[in-house]
Amino acid sequence: MAKPSTPKPKHIPMRRCVVCRESKAQAELIRFYRTESGWQLDEQGKAGGRGAWLCQKESCHEDKALKRFFRQDAGRIRETLERYKQETKAKSQESRAKRIRVAVGGMNV
Ligand SMILES: [Zn+2]
Repeated sequence: MAKPSTPKPKHIPMRRCVVCRESKAQAELIRFYRTESGWQLDEQGKAGGRGAWLCQKESCHEDKALKRFFRQDAGRIRETLERYKQETKAKSQESRAKRIRVAVGGMNV
């Protein structure tokens, strides 16, 4: 029996968290970009300008940690992060509910 050919590993872009300095896959990080009025959340990860990446560890979202990099913007960044996390949580709950409905449908209930 012929072995299935192993697909080439995809190149995963890595980024470094500005707080803990750990490199992680870009998709796992949250991007901020610098504007004249301060740092803004870059939800699409596509905004131009100077960018800063933040990982999803709770310890990297604490005021003390954020201040090391974002300075006077830390408070606002923290609020933005909280809102962003609420939104992503709501989204993942929604998709879980969808999966459950599909599973139930498949059982001919
Ligand atoms: Zn981090």
